[in-house]
Amino acid sequence: MKPAPFQYHAPKTIDEALELLAEFGDDDGRVIAGGQSLVPTMAFRLAKPRHLVDINGVGELNYLEIKDGQLHIGAGVRHSAFEQPVDNGPLGRLLSAVVKHIAHHPIRTRGTFCGSIAHADPASEWCAVVAALDGDMLCESKRSGARLVPARDFFKGIMTTALREDELLTEVRLPILPQDAYAGFAEFSRRQGDYAIAMAVATYRLKAGVMSDMLRIAVGGAEAAPRRIAEAERTLIGRPPNLGTFQSAAHAVVKAVRPLDDANVTADYRLGIVRTMVTRALQNANPAGAGE
Ligand SMILES: Cc1cc2nc3c(=O)[nH]c(=O)nc-3n(C[C@H](O)[C@H](O)[C@H](O)COP(=O)(O)OP(=O)(O)OC[C@H]3O[C@@H](n4cnc5c(N)ncnc54)[C@H](O)[C@@H]3O)c2cc1C
Repeated sequence: MKPAPFQYHAPKTIDEALELLAEFGDDDGRVIAGGQSLVPTMAFRLAKPRHLVDINGVGELNYLEIKDGQLHIGAGVRHSAFEQPVDNGPLGRLLSAVVKHIAHHPIRTRGTFCGSIAHADPASEWCAVVAALDGDMLCESKRSGARLVPARDFFKGIMTTALREDELLTEVRLPILPQDAYAGFAEFSRRQGDYAIAMAVATYRLKAGVMSDMLRIAVGGAEAAPRRIAEAERTLIGRPPNLGTFQSAAHAVVKAVRPLDDANVTADYRLGIVRTMVTRALQNANPAGAGE
């Protein structure tokens, strides 16, 4: 099928993009970034935006920079930018391990990091990472100016976020992880490049051989939105990083999660996958590499 008719707008600056969103946001206006999620839904006429604001010509959004202890990811940055580590510590390694699980290479060269966050598919790898690391979303509009929304307030449900109709997600900020942080990722999907059935992200730091701080376990793909599981994080405190500790944490996750149930994947099956992914993410968390 072909998309329903729409009016195309091609701003060259952030300011022009915000002007267009102010004018058309309430009239079914949508941002288009990589188009890797929006275009298929338009082709099936599941989405029929009347205006498309194409941000691909906005050069100001193409930046990846580290400042004030954070990685700033502009809305123009493609998934493929993370295939090589963007920082020489655990964060760079984690992001390079994660990106391999997103779709296939051609899609990664077009789709954007911020597009994934704005789209908020429950099975998005970047959404799980942002939830695990307590990332911040910089949302801008003519009406409200700029506001920073933390991950716990940003993801509201399946493809539902705190972004307003007239807002542009200008950048996402992630904390740079210290060199001695352990960070790991694991996901299960039926075929390479498929959306995940479940995934987990874990970080921790050791002091005198036991887990001391940066204790984070987040689960994606299992519920309507990715989130940290505090009950499981608490089980890690003061424990040595071994299989028994990891399995106890996975057990706490399973008790806390209310998994999605659909025609292809039952809730029980998904929960079993969650258990294994949490254990593996913790096992994968080592300074040399972050994922499978
Ligand atoms: C075959 C296939 C397999 C895929 N597999 C995976 C996968 O395994 N994991 C995964 O995470 N993704 C997967 N994707 C989706 C892909 O990662 C997309 O790139 C991503 O979901 C959206 O990014 P985009 O830049 O393409 O956004 P678009 O498609 O351009 O936009 C998506 C939505 O976000 C909004 N939007 C985009 N950018 C902004 C912004 N800066 N501010 C405000 N709103 C914005 C748009 O209005 C739209 O509603 C797959 C896609 C395909 C086609």
